[in-house]
Amino acid sequence: MIKQLAIVGGTHGNEFTGIYLLQKWQKNQALIARSTFETETLFANAQAYQQNKRYIDHDLNRCFSHQDLADSSLDSIEQTRAKEINQLLGPKGNPRVDFIIDLHTTTTNMGPTLLITKKGKFYNQLAAYVKMHMPEAMISCDEDHKTNDEHHFLSTVAQDSVMVEVGPVPQSVLRHDVFEQSEQMTLLILDFIELHNKGEVPKLPETVDAYRYLESIKLPLTATGERAGMVHRDIQDKDFAKIEPGQVIFVTFDGEEITYQGDKAVYGSFINEAAYYDNNLAMSLLEKTTLSTTADD
Ligand SMILES: [Zn+2]
Repeated sequence: MIKQLAIVGGTHGNEFTGIYLLQKWQKNQALIARSTFETETLFANAQAYQQNKRYIDHDLNRCFSHQDLADSSLDSIEQTRAKEINQLLGPKGNPRVDFIIDLHTTTTNMGPTLLITKKGKFYNQLAAYVKMHMPEAMISCDEDHKTNDEHHFLSTVAQDSVMVEVGPVPQSVLRHDVFEQSEQMTLLILDFIELHNKGEVPKLPETVDAYRYLESIKLPLTATGERAGMVHRDIQDKDFAKIEPGQVIFVTFDGEEITYQGDKAVYGSFINEAAYYDNNLAMSLLEKTTLSTTADD
């Protein structure tokens, strides 16, 4: 039974959609109120927002592993804020809040995506429910083999959580369609939890199509680590489309095409994400999978 839920926005200071959705809902709390649980909101990284940045010292959404939260020598702005949020919503391992929805946006063409970091029938049914009411929604399982303690995402302060990830929208920009899709997906998650709490989950499709994260790959780099090329136009904006072995994925600044070297077909997400340039990450590679609404994984 989920009794206490938190919706978090502004974990990344330049992802404006979640920040303004929180403001909207704070003015009209009936939109996020449900009868079987309490809902609160949290603006996670206001300092980064004021500076119009994703983060100041460290990516806040990588600061929440159990180990890092326990390490008092980690005291940058975001590492300190992570410990505060852990006090407000957690503490991780024995949290006050049962469920967290963390709102994110992406510069990539992923559409409205539900990011799930844990396995189980509850999540499979949630995914099917969201997709039933929002067919354009994509379901992405992100390292759901890990324990909650190992995950470094803010949302994993609670035992159960999801991230809402919607794009394309530039950093520090609001787009009406992305705003609407983010709100719709969030309200569907609240509706599902309400139905689940009441034991009234409706009949769902037996399976739901999803993707599961395999690995991240980097942009072409020189021997000294300088960028040597970019994402090829053929896969730009083609999030969740198939990438075959031997398919061109990058082009160097000299015009040389670079192909995907894997031995089986994969799917891309976060393709050419602006926020990943600090690590020269080019995209995530995923495999296709099917989630069962009647079995546990
Ligand atoms: Zn984000």
